[in-house]
Amino acid sequence: MATLDEVESFAVSRQDVLDQVSGIDAARYARTRNFTDGGTQISPYLTRGLVTLPEVRDLVLERFTRSQAYKFVFELAWREYWQREWTFLGDRIFSDLKRSQHPVSSRRIPRAVRDGGTGIDALDAAVGKLYDTGYMHNHARMWLAGLTCNIGRTHWWEPSLWLYYHLLDGDPASNSLSWQWVAGTNSNKKYVPAQQNVNKYSPLTQHDTVIDHGYGVLAEMAVPDVLTERVELDLRWTPPPSDEPMVDPAKPTVLYHSFWLNAAWRQDVDANRIVLLEPSWFDRFPVSPMVTDYVMRCAREIPGARVIVAEFDDLDLGDNVIYMRHPSVPHWRGTADEMPRMFPDVPEKSYASFTSFWKQCERTTR
Ligand SMILES: Cc1cc2nc3c(=O)[nH]c(=O)nc-3n(C[C@H](O)[C@H](O)[C@H](O)COP(=O)(O)OP(=O)(O)OC[C@H]3O[C@@H](n4cnc5c(N)ncnc54)[C@H](O)[C@@H]3O)c2cc1C
Repeated sequence: MATLDEVESFAVSRQDVLDQVSGIDAARYARTRNFTDGGTQISPYLTRGLVTLPEVRDLVLERFTRSQAYKFVFELAWREYWQREWTFLGDRIFSDLKRSQHPVSSRRIPRAVRDGGTGIDALDAAVGKLYDTGYMHNHARMWLAGLTCNIGRTHWWEPSLWLYYHLLDGDPASNSLSWQWVAGTNSNKKYVPAQQNVNKYSPLTQHDTVIDHGYGVLAEMAVPDVLTERVELDLRWTPPPSDEPMVDPAKPTVLYHSFWLNAAWRQDVDANRIVLLEPSWFDRFPVSPMVTDYVMRCAREIPGARVIVAEFDDLDLGDNVIYMRHPSVPHWRGTADEMPRMFPDVPEKSYASFTSFWKQCERTTR
C-alpha cells in the first residue's frame, strides 16, 4: 500500500481514485491497519463522494475473498454506521449523546496538542503531518483525542472542530462521533492512550512521556503540566472565488456539495452543473485553505461544473433541481438521489452500537 510519503498528494480525478482503490491489498490491510503506516488513505475520496462505499467494497471483492476482505469491509461499515446515525439523529450528534463527559477541566484545546508539542514524538509527528498533508492515521487520531479528552480532561467539542478544520477527509459524523466514542459520551468506556501502545504501533519508541504509565494510573492521574495551557481557537473559512451563477432555465440543474463531488454521477443528463458552497455551512464548520483547495480541485474534475459560493435559498436554480440527499443540506429542494449504501437491506434507523448495526449487516449478506 502506498503511504503519503510515497504519493505526492491525494488524487482528485475519479480514474486515479479508482486505480488507487483497485490497488488496495485487503489481506495485508487486515494485518497492518493499526500500525501508523497501515491505512489505505482513501478517506478523502469517500468523504468527498469521489467514490462510494459500495463501489470501494465491490472493487476490493473483485480481487479478494469475503474472508480476506472481512476486516476492510468491517472498517468501511464504521463509516456507513456514522453516516446513518447523523442522518437519523441530525444535530444531536454535535453534543454529548448518551451521557455528559466527566470530568472536564476546560473546553479549550491544550496549546501543546494544537502545536504538536506534547513531548510524545509519534503524536507530535502526526500533528505535523496533519498540517503538511491534511491526513492523520486512525490510531494517531485515537491517541490525540484520548490524550486531549481523557488525560487533558478537555471537552471533546472544540478540539474536534480543530481536527475537522485540517482534515481533507473531515466529516462531521465520523469526526464528532469518533471524538464522542473516545471521550465516553457515546460509548461505555473511554479510550485512554498509553505509551506502550504508541510504541507498539508507531515506528518511534519512547519512554518517560506523560502517558508512560499503566492504564490504572493513566485513568486517575491529574492533568499533566504540559496540557494545562489552553488556546482559544479562531477557525475561519476563506471562501474561494465564485463563478457567475449562469443557469439555462431550459435545462435541469444538477447540484453538488462538498461531500458529493462525484464526477460520474448523473452524467447522462444534459444539465447545468453547480457545486454549491454555502457560507452558512462553512461558518458553522470551517475548513482550512488546504481543505478548500482540495474541494476546489475535486470540483474542477466534474465536467462543465461551475463553483458557486452562495446560499441555496438566494439562488434561482430553475424548477428542476437534482441533488444528492445529505444531512449537511436538509434545506435543499428538488429531486433527491439517495446516498448509495453498502447494506441497503439494513433498516435506516439509529442503532444502539456499531456492534448491533454490524450484526444486521452480516445477517443481510449471508
Ligand atoms: C478522533 C477521530 C476523528 C476522526 N475523524 C474522521 C473524519 O473527520 N473523517 C473520516 O472519514 N474519518 C474520521 N475518523 C475515522 C478514521 O480515523 C478515518 O476514517 C481513517 O483514519 C481514514 O484513514 P484511511 O482511509 O487510511 O482508513 P482505513 O483504515 O484504510 O479504512 C478505510 C476506510 O474505512 C472508513 N473507516 C475506517 N475506520 C473508520 C472509523 N473508525 N470511523 C469511520 N470510518 C472509518 C474510512 O472511510 C476509511 O477511509 C476519525 C477517527 C477518530 C478516532
